Amino acid sequence: MTNQQMNTDVILIGAGVMSATLGTLLKQLAPEWNITVFEKLDAAGEESSHELNNAGTGHAALCELNYTKELEDGSIDMSKAISVNEQFQVSRQFWSYLVEQGLIKNPEDFIMPLPHVSYVQGEDNVRFLKNRYETMIQNPLFKGMEFSDDLEKLKEWLPLMMENRTASEPLAATKIDIGTDVNFGSLTRMMFDNLEQQGVDVEYNHVVEDITRRPDGRWDLKILDTKNNIRKFQSAKFLFIGGGGGSLPLLQKTGIPESKQIGGFPISGIFMVCNNPEIVEKHNAKVYGKAAVGAPPMSVPHLDTRYIDKEKSLLFGPFAGFSPKFLKTGSNMDLFGSVKPNNLVTMLACGAKNMGLTKYLVEQLAQSKEQRMEELRSFIPDAKEEDWELIVAGQRVQVIKDTPEEKGKLQFGTEVVTDEAGTVAALLGASPGASTAVHVMLDVMNRCFPEEMQEWEPKIKEMIPSYGVALSENPELFKEVHEATSKSLKLTK
Ligand SMILES: Cc1cc2nc3c(=O)[nH]c(=O)nc-3n(C[C@H](O)[C@H](O)[C@H](O)COP(=O)(O)OP(=O)(O)OC[C@H]3O[C@@H](n4cnc5c(N)ncnc54)[C@H](O)[C@@H]3O)c2cc1C
Repeated sequence: MTNQQMNTDVILIGAGVMSATLGTLLKQLAPEWNITVFEKLDAAGEESSHELNNAGTGHAALCELNYTKELEDGSIDMSKAISVNEQFQVSRQFWSYLVEQGLIKNPEDFIMPLPHVSYVQGEDNVRFLKNRYETMIQNPLFKGMEFSDDLEKLKEWLPLMMENRTASEPLAATKIDIGTDVNFGSLTRMMFDNLEQQGVDVEYNHVVEDITRRPDGRWDLKILDTKNNIRKFQSAKFLFIGGGGGSLPLLQKTGIPESKQIGGFPISGIFMVCNNPEIVEKHNAKVYGKAAVGAPPMSVPHLDTRYIDKEKSLLFGPFAGFSPKFLKTGSNMDLFGSVKPNNLVTMLACGAKNMGLTKYLVEQLAQSKEQRMEELRSFIPDAKEEDWELIVAGQRVQVIKDTPEEKGKLQFGTEVVTDEAGTVAALLGASPGASTAVHVMLDVMNRCFPEEMQEWEPKIKEMIPSYGVALSENPELFKEVHEATSKSLKLTK
């Protein structure tokens, strides 16, 4: 084993969609900066960003019922839905820019138009959906949404789901045609191809083993080249930890005060996939239902049309489960190894409060295929076991942290952690996930490069015309960017 020492401006750990996005933004804004990427696997986008490890929903709050809340006075709180939608519009604009610049070819290789549907059963849920719809359509972001509780209309929208269905209880759905299916794996690979062409050094089969800060503020990394069994050392002015589920242990290695009292709780996912063309052809939507009582928000069941390598398939799930691994390719020691003296109390407090969730996840994991088929049959009454196979999806590591109100709070969102000087940033959590990657990476840049961001603003506005503007309050600009991005991403019929 030999040693090598190198210096660079920026190191990105992990070749997932987050590092791809940050690297691409930085190459547009500061092309002279040297960037090095270390990825432990042998290709980009192989963990959560891989097309079969996530559901590929372009999350824009067009169908996910958990982004709206019905308040006690009967009104609908839309704040989360508006924020997720606006964040997705930022991604759309950046992706359009990349297509228009020729940095990404063939948008249909990563994004396809697909109606987004919310679907509910039972009187109370139907009433809720109608109330929600009436509020949502008043906002320009959700213009075009339709509601129906008429079985004939539902048969037209959802032929596979309504086949041989007897209306034993009230059913309703909302549908909006401006939804998307996104192949985040393909997008990640295209962005990395482009980064390599622009001189970014992308080192696959390189595991980052340790991180230390030098007295001058630079970051030193110890890396193992697993192919050649060589240990390398590299330093950088700025470090981004985009290790997906593997980010937490790497953040802990930095030793920054902001990394203390934070823990992670891994939740695994299983999908069911159908490739039978006769069945696949009868469904054309992403259909989100309501989460079961006690289920975490990311296990809302949904039945999706997917476009992968130009082939259509159906995906149902996710079924949540428990695994101590932080990455799909991780180790069973990940959870145990992340418990440190500084987060032990935080973790224990969270564990004590969430015994019900752990029990739910263990029960979910123990389900037989037939039990999972029963859940699928609430969407497709005639679903047959031989048409559906189980696949293991990616791991999501939920953040556990102390808040002013609560010790050991389990969070279901995304958390960007940076040091005070803005020399290191880590991304934890996975929701809404890849759909909002551009917004989240701009947040990293605002926190770590505040001065440069002022200088870069004109270029950012060229790439993302709505940057800094609330689109829900600017219907004209929304119309303009939505039409322009639909055209360049080939999302119009
Ligand atoms: C079941 C499931 C469904 C989802 N559905 C959706 C969806 O429908 N829509 C959506 O927008 N988002 C969805 N997400 C979330 C989305 O997939 C993630 O937010 C996103 O892919 C995270 O990207 P990332 O780059 O942070 O992580 P990843 O894609 O996981 O990449 C991290 C990379 O870091 C590497 N790495 C880790 N540790 C090291 C190390 N020490 N040294 C070197 N390399 C390292 C890993 O090998 C990996 O390649 C879903 C996630 C899951 C698990």
